[in-house]
Amino acid sequence: MSEPEPVSLDLHVRGIGESPTLAINQRCAELQRKGVRVHRLGLGQSPFPVPSLVVEALRTNAHRKEYLPVRGLPELREAVAEFHRRTDRLDLPAQGVLVGPGSKELMFLLQVCFYGEIVVPTPCWVSYVPQARILGREVRRLPTSFEDGWKVTPQGLDRTLSAEHDPSRPRLLVLNYPANPHGGTYSPAELEDIARVARKYSLLLLSDEIYGQLHYAGNHVSVGRFYPEGTILSSGLSKWCGAGGWRLGTFAFPPRLGWLLDAMAAVASETYTAVSTPIQYAAVTAFRGGAELERYLCHARRILRALGDRCAETLLRAGIRLHRAEGAFYLFPDLGPLAQRLAARGIRTSDVLCERLLDEVGVAVLPGSAFERRADELTLRLAFVDFDGARALAASETTPLDQPLPDSFLEQLCAGPLEACRRLADWAAG
Ligand code: GLU
Repeated sequence: MSEPEPVSLDLHVRGIGESPTLAINQRCAELQRKGVRVHRLGLGQSPFPVPSLVVEALRTNAHRKEYLPVRGLPELREAVAEFHRRTDRLDLPAQGVLVGPGSKELMFLLQVCFYGEIVVPTPCWVSYVPQARILGREVRRLPTSFEDGWKVTPQGLDRTLSAEHDPSRPRLLVLNYPANPHGGTYSPAELEDIARVARKYSLLLLSDEIYGQLHYAGNHVSVGRFYPEGTILSSGLSKWCGAGGWRLGTFAFPPRLGWLLDAMAAVASETYTAVSTPIQYAAVTAFRGGAELERYLCHARRILRALGDRCAETLLRAGIRLHRAEGAFYLFPDLGPLAQRLAARGIRTSDVLCERLLDEVGVAVLPGSAFERRADELTLRLAFVDFDGARALAASETTPLDQPLPDSFLEQLCAGPLEACRRLADWAAG
């Protein structure tokens, strides 16, 4: 669109572009269509296939055509509640579950319904802040630091919240871990400290734990354990079940927040009606879990951990600073230590950094600015997902889970991200 924006375009959406995660993916696809070799580390999409028993459940239910209740298929809401009991040891009632077309849409609905300030630690996933902006909501960014592992500290949170002239005003804190964009996570003790501050200010806490099942050690702990009364727990099929394009997300509310669930369900009923019926039936199988799914997850975690580590080592050797991922499939390198050298090449912002990387070495990543970091901070997000997850899973299955993957595994099966990191490192150091 190059036409000037008409005056009738709402102020809140003026100048808004498509979300960076989707835009970079589109751009890569266009470059590849033109025959350009691109390393696609932009969009954070699971490399692994949807587990076959979940695909089979979808096939079996493809004929279903009736509308489902706006809050979701009752068996699915029950399966999600049971999933949180099993994996998070949280006793959330099935009536507290809301199923939506992706947790992204549920977050948007939450922002539609919640009246108050939204507090977002940064770096954060690309869409929390634009959603608030679309709705004209107030956002307070809470910048975290490399030194703190990009994590919220209870002191930092308390300081931010107490600075408000009316510390008791309604506020929504968004927490996300294992984190997009850096793969870090919180220990139970850290979560307990954050929960204490949340309780002190009666915060509403949206805990985006969509990567919880991709905690590499399988030890994900929900903050809901420490702040059950104020936590909405967000999950979905996109990451651990490899089904981003299926668009199914879930929110689980404690009974005290039923008023918010009711309001969101009412808005949902006036907008998308309900999530696709066959997808909901298939999701029952996914959330119920079982030995086959557990094995799939164990292999996925082992591959991601090994690959994330190897990518990190390559970047660290080039003088880039970063924290190793503990879950999910992201790294958030900071090229700050190379700032002088980069400035001499005309690179002073993360946007220019990523443009040049794509142009000069064909590596597509997203700039730190898209994750609400200052434009002149030389950070970027790299999603190490550009490999054939089905092949990698099949190969991993030939090595017992209590053993490490063979030395040649990554070079043979995850060559894309390794090559991209080598190119990035050589280019940055050059
Ligand atoms: N969560 C993924 C990412 O950060 C992609 C999905 C999205 O942004 O909608 O890349």
